[in-house]
Amino acid sequence: MMKTITIASGKGGTGKTFITCNLGVLLSMCGYRVLIVDADVNLANVELVYGLKAKYTLQDFIEGTCKAEDVVQNVLGSVYVTPAGIQLKRRIRPKEFDDAVKQILSTMDFDYVLIDAPAGIDAQVVTSVRMSEGYLLVANPEITSIVDAYKVKKIMENSGTLIGVVLNKVKKTGINRREIEKVLGEIIASIPEDPKIPQSINSGIPYVVKNPNTITTKQLIRLASRVSGREIVVDARPKFWFFRRRGDDIDEDKASGR
Ligand code: ADP
Ligand code: MG
Repeated sequence: MMKTITIASGKGGTGKTFITCNLGVLLSMCGYRVLIVDADVNLANVELVYGLKAKYTLQDFIEGTCKAEDVVQNVLGSVYVTPAGIQLKRRIRPKEFDDAVKQILSTMDFDYVLIDAPAGIDAQVVTSVRMSEGYLLVANPEITSIVDAYKVKKIMENSGTLIGVVLNKVKKTGINRREIEKVLGEIIASIPEDPKIPQSINSGIPYVVKNPNTITTKQLIRLASRVSGREIVVDARPKFWFFRRRGDDIDEDKASGR
């Protein structure tokens, strides 16, 4: 059964796109078919993370200049992306977005749909969360980020279920984890400030593929396990590594996304 999850945050720059794209890669490595919808239609960047040159974008589909299957692009393994388009043609209305995504999902089948939402509390985010089974709240351990994330949580109270909080850009000093959980809810992954992350984005190769053994990847695996409800084990060897779902017998080539 298809599961749709929105990745939301109060502020921009918290790490939503990074987390969405790498979560997608991990789920794909487990053999799931994943669609990443770049809902940040007014500030697109999923395609940049994957080093993708988009031929058609969600904007084109909404304008009727391409078909649903044209806008869904395979980026790696079983990860597919609907790019929002780097160039802004015009503002997309939430209803148009909602209809377009539903139309795309009626023609193709996925296990997971991850919606990379725009920051803040605009109508687009509410629409995305309403379309989803649950949402992840990404925040940085700074008071401004926590307060803004709290606002999102309040607005979503009647629209969706919070799966958990992903704390990103965690430094040695900062707000206490316990205090954050009191305000936002359970922290299901805690990702450190990691200079390899901007590097991976510039390289166009997903972080978890490039850095299979870091704390960041371990935390992203934790997140993927939580989202999928299955324990994910990593088999990392010098030149060969792959992910699999414990107890599952899946083809290693497919699982490694190569
Ligand atoms: P958002 O989608 O929430 O606006 P991004 O995923 O685009 O945020 O991340 C914003 C910037 O922060 C990017 O340049 C990214 O490389 C960087 N970044 C994200 N997470 C981390 C981290 N844990 N450590 C260091 N840099 C990070
Ligand atoms: Mg983003």
